[in-house]
Amino acid sequence: MADMSLAGGVKIDPKQTIVVTGGGGFIGGHLVNFFRSMGVKKIRAVDIKPLDEWYQVHRDVENHAGPLKGDCRDYKVCRKVCTGADEVYQLAADMGGMGFIENNKALCMLSVLTNTHMLLAAQESGVKRFFYASSACVYNADKQKDPNITALKEADAYPGLPEDGYGWEKLFSERMCRHFREDFGMHTRVARFHNVYGPNGTWEGGREKAPAAICRKVIAAKVSGKHEIEIWGDGTQTRSFMFIDDCVRGINMITHSQILEPINLGSSELVSINQLVSIAEQIAGIKLERKYKLDAPKGVAGRNSDNKKIQKYLGWEPSTRLRDGMERTYRWIEEEFLAKYNAKTAHKSSISTFTKGSHPIPGDGFNPESKNMDTWQQGIPAGYGKASPSKPAKKAKASGGKKASKKVKAKR
Ligand code: NAD
Repeated sequence: MADMSLAGGVKIDPKQTIVVTGGGGFIGGHLVNFFRSMGVKKIRAVDIKPLDEWYQVHRDVENHAGPLKGDCRDYKVCRKVCTGADEVYQLAADMGGMGFIENNKALCMLSVLTNTHMLLAAQESGVKRFFYASSACVYNADKQKDPNITALKEADAYPGLPEDGYGWEKLFSERMCRHFREDFGMHTRVARFHNVYGPNGTWEGGREKAPAAICRKVIAAKVSGKHEIEIWGDGTQTRSFMFIDDCVRGINMITHSQILEPINLGSSELVSINQLVSIAEQIAGIKLERKYKLDAPKGVAGRNSDNKKIQKYLGWEPSTRLRDGMERTYRWIEEEFLAKYNAKTAHKSSISTFTKGSHPIPGDGFNPESKNMDTWQQGIPAGYGKASPSKPAKKAKASGGKKASKKVKAKR
């Protein structure tokens, strides 16, 4: 018998057909599982990753996996998975933590293909509801310069100055959902997620977000006996973090609500990154020497979710205490970590890698164009703004040069 309290009072029809794109990813995997637990019999989970790389695989759902059957940039795939569907949850996106999105702006923006084609295919199939996963990265950077941030309310997305690349794409796709609703009568719903964390998500490799990265580094320090931790930035930057169970519950409630405009879905428990590290240390029962990597990607100075609107509409907001959610996340990552590393190899996992595209950047660097640029401020490619367009040779050298690209080729 399904636990209806998890559905937030929403009646879910078990006979409907539900599509979850990004079903092999962190939130998508949990969402598929949620609908299963609510008794929905026909679920299509879609993801570009091969099935053996999915975080959660459920044999009792239709799994459309891999570049041929699960790439939602491909309109044919979108049409196939949307045919006969009642509800679509569009979560597929090429994304990751700050180290990824600051270095892969083009890749992040290409998710516009996925969003466009899924909207078109869903419209063509006459789906009843279309949910789109937006992000707090759409918010105007000028309103996030202080760690003692005033929580961001929905109207703060305009005038537009979102996170370069990833945030611009999200803001654009949000608007596309709005116009599909206004012009074509499609029932689109949009939530702006604020940092989601929990078990069964990315915890290493360059796409992981702060809570998972910090858990991993603390575990690596504990296992290796080298009691130090590298922190990106000076640790004073503030954020709120929403536990996955709250996220899934919120998606379900928002999709079936009458909330027409994009709405925040996030916790309002604000912490600094230093405090987040302390929580992970407490769970691990150790104290670490903190080393601050000041030139690493760190995002805005402060960001929190203003939950007045979600409270007004739903009488609810994400409420899992960070300490409790981190405990569950830490334990899951610890298991994964110990299955892969031991005391001799653990130190390898204590440093965060930066990825560019699907391959690591050679050496220790990340894209120097991003590194020295206040991307939040500029929002324009280097070469047109501060950086001088007359020095292309230096740019090539800084990003690894000929030698470095040879190294990458050899690795491939
Ligand atoms: P994730 O990376 O774990 O999952 C996204 C999945 O989409 C991946 O499995 C990936 O393989 C898949 N994907 C990428 N391109 C695809 C394509 N062309 N076709 C099909 N599948 C494709 O990330 P997540 O944390 O589960 O995020 C889910 C959604 O929520 C994303 O849209 C993301 O932008 C949004 N979001 C997440 C957070 C967060 O903190 N996790 C915050 C804000 C917004």
